Amino acid sequence: MKAFVYNGQPSRVVFGAGSLVHLEREIDLLGARRALVLSTPEQAPQAQMVADRLGSRAAGIFARAMMHVPIETAREAREVAHRLGADCAIAIGGGSTTGLGKAIALDSGLPILAIPTTYAGSEMTPIYGITEAGLKKTGKDARVLPRTVIYDPELTLSLPVAMSVTSGMNAIAHAAEGLYAQDSNPVMNLMAEEGIRALAQALPAIRQSADDVKARGGALYGAWLCGTVLGNVGMALHHKLCHTLGGSFNLPHAEVHTVVLPQAMAFNAEAVPDAMSRMARALGTTGQVSAAAALFDLARDNGAPVALKDIGMQAADLDRAADIGVSNPYWNPRSFGPGQRDDIRQLLQRAYDGVRPD
Ligand code: NAD
Repeated sequence: MKAFVYNGQPSRVVFGAGSLVHLEREIDLLGARRALVLSTPEQAPQAQMVADRLGSRAAGIFARAMMHVPIETAREAREVAHRLGADCAIAIGGGSTTGLGKAIALDSGLPILAIPTTYAGSEMTPIYGITEAGLKKTGKDARVLPRTVIYDPELTLSLPVAMSVTSGMNAIAHAAEGLYAQDSNPVMNLMAEEGIRALAQALPAIRQSADDVKARGGALYGAWLCGTVLGNVGMALHHKLCHTLGGSFNLPHAEVHTVVLPQAMAFNAEAVPDAMSRMARALGTTGQVSAAAALFDLARDNGAPVALKDIGMQAADLDRAADIGVSNPYWNPRSFGPGQRDDIRQLLQRAYDGVRPD
């Protein structure tokens, strides 16, 4: 057994179809009296439903969360929380809404109760991101980790199938890189493998029937596991490339993860054969099909994009993407600094064209 450090993070998870009924109990357990409910404009009706359920324990609704947490929105939400005397923030939505809750918590220490409705996994991490003057700054702070997370698959039935598949691939990416993380540990490996397995089974079933509550439960269970891995161990090449493509070229978050993941796994495969066999086992592939190819098939067969050219990337930007990608590289099992710029350029070309890895 390899030496490891395992650091459990304090968060309470309430899981199950219909588990939103426990909201009042969970608010009581946090000792909160005045909750500010956060959502995007699109999910304002869900925020209203949460506020109605809480009655006088809801201090108000702030339904202006948006992608990448612009500092202006964060300031506005902090101001509203302060003015209303909120003692807790409830974030109902995906990573953007949870991210807004984190921006408030970072400033005020307000506890967050997260109700995730995508598979992005932000609710299980102490990682925050705030965008100022076009630049997204990320950091880690224990205060932003939601204290309580209510996972209710019924609230994910409305997530469109296309978004469900890419969001699920985004979750799988956390677990895939977790399997070869430098600071991995046996508990995270178990969670990563099980998380990939749960999502790989659930996504085709959701594609078949978007309101299959059992499949939705499987996907959300996988999202929890994969998000926990993201919150506990370091990410590598794949996340660095997605950060570059999303940040510098404004490509959509979950779609970028979906397209890059098979290519990043193919790049790393030889360096981490054990992680690849665990991944292949979780994906249910046999013999000839590599984990990287199985990830590509999972996306393609469920109608998700597999090529950067189909999600808004310009061929003329690939050189610059390679330059940024190899600058300040993260740790990775196979090096990818400026000396490997050509290899990364090639990886990006394959991602751009949507080439199925071997
Ligand atoms: P998102 O939160 O931006 O949501 C996308 C859209 O889907 C929004 O309009 C949202 O309202 C809508 N939506 C969400 N759930 C829905 C549902 N059930 N029904 C109908 N519509 C629904 O997307 P995301 O992929 O969840 O989050 C992406 C953001 O989260 C990125 O900014 C990313 O950087 C961040 N993120 C952060 C972490 C972290 O640990 N800090 C982890 C993962 C993602």
